Amino acid sequence: MLNFTLNENQRMIADMIRDFGAKEITPFRKDWDDKQHFPIELFKKLGQLGLMGVLVPHEYGGAGFGYFEYVTAIAELAKLDPAIGLSMAAHNSLCTNHILMFGSEEQKQKYLPKLATCEWLGAWGLTEPNTGSDAGNMRTVAKKDGDYYIINGAKNFITHGFSGDVAVVIARTGEIGDSHGMTAFVVEKGTPGFRGGRKEDKLGMRASETAEMIFEDCKVHESQVLGEVGEGFIQSMKVLDGGRISIAALSLGIAEGALEASIQYSKERQQFNQPISKFQGISFKLADMATQVEAASLLTFKAADLKNRGEKVTLEGAQAKYYSSEVAVSVSNEAVQIFGGYGFTKDYPVEKYYRDAKLCTIGEGTSEIQKLVISREVLRK
Ligand SMILES: Cc1cc2nc3c(=O)[nH]c(=O)nc-3n(C[C@H](O)[C@H](O)[C@H](O)COP(=O)(O)OP(=O)(O)OC[C@H]3O[C@@H](n4cnc5c(N)ncnc54)[C@H](O)[C@@H]3O)c2cc1C
Repeated sequence: MLNFTLNENQRMIADMIRDFGAKEITPFRKDWDDKQHFPIELFKKLGQLGLMGVLVPHEYGGAGFGYFEYVTAIAELAKLDPAIGLSMAAHNSLCTNHILMFGSEEQKQKYLPKLATCEWLGAWGLTEPNTGSDAGNMRTVAKKDGDYYIINGAKNFITHGFSGDVAVVIARTGEIGDSHGMTAFVVEKGTPGFRGGRKEDKLGMRASETAEMIFEDCKVHESQVLGEVGEGFIQSMKVLDGGRISIAALSLGIAEGALEASIQYSKERQQFNQPISKFQGISFKLADMATQVEAASLLTFKAADLKNRGEKVTLEGAQAKYYSSEVAVSVSNEAVQIFGGYGFTKDYPVEKYYRDAKLCTIGEGTSEIQKLVISREVLRK
């Protein structure tokens, strides 16, 4: 049966994040954004709150929640600072979830408790300088050498590529063009031949670290392979199916934050001796924004519901991600318009939503790639 109200856990998580964020995020977010500072210490605190292992079962030290709670947590963090939401989502959905979904029992015991508390920060490397959307064409290679693999190549645009303590890395172990020719490895910081590279200077999401990962004759024992050799790319597509729900949630939080700020501002700002909300030109914008946010929420929670029930979410995850991310961009754009000149300044939160939102139509598969996935799925029916 459909239920459109937040469950008790979701309410508890939302309240907890609002209380925590008022002290630990809101006062600092502008400074982090201006200086492009990645507040790693904040993520340790989020780890203590259970937010860095939301989907990790209790037996591995996580919060043991499902996707409803996960969506709520990301959206609430995104309202406060989308960059913090992005880093939290990448740590949970990509690195941690890849190990949870495909790791051996020994690997889960070793990595998940440390990731769930953020004693170790996670990174996940699929993208390379020349292969983003076309990730299956990657050039980073892992060559077998006795009981080891020697990894050479570079990954770029990796969230926590520099500061991550443990990274899941996909490298080629077979022929180019073979979707079964790539393998996932867990590589720990400090492994000789593995280092973080250049940090990107970004338009938005500036408090979330995005950096290169470089592999130069990096020797990794075969026990660090996740799942089967040759299955890394297929695993990644499954990880991304769930990951896209988290980018939909991130988008939802941005759109909700921009909408709330716009409603409040439009009631306060007076022009022509009345609040600007009285002008139909503004109130109709709010009507469109509110309706788009609602539709984005329904798509996102539908995908979350399917995921909770263990069903395939390739179509629904892509639809939620595609629609919600485009809504985040359009709603934050309208929010800047409603704020007028003040919306163009850093004194109000909407210019940051506007800059941060754009990442959502790019990361974990661009809008064009989501349309590719969606059309492939609907044509299959
Ligand atoms: C802040 C940030 C964080 C990131 N974090 C991570 C991370 O943690 N791990 C990771 O592995 N990656 C990460 N990425 C990489 C991200 O997933 C890629 O940037 C994204 O998949 C797009 O790849 P690209 O940048 O190479 O663009 P390209 O693939 O070069 O695309 C360029 C343009 O061409 C379009 N295009 C490409 N192929 C097609 C097609 N077949 N049909 C129609 N249009 C097409 C795209 O939609 C886009 O508009 C991150 C990126 C950013 C910006």
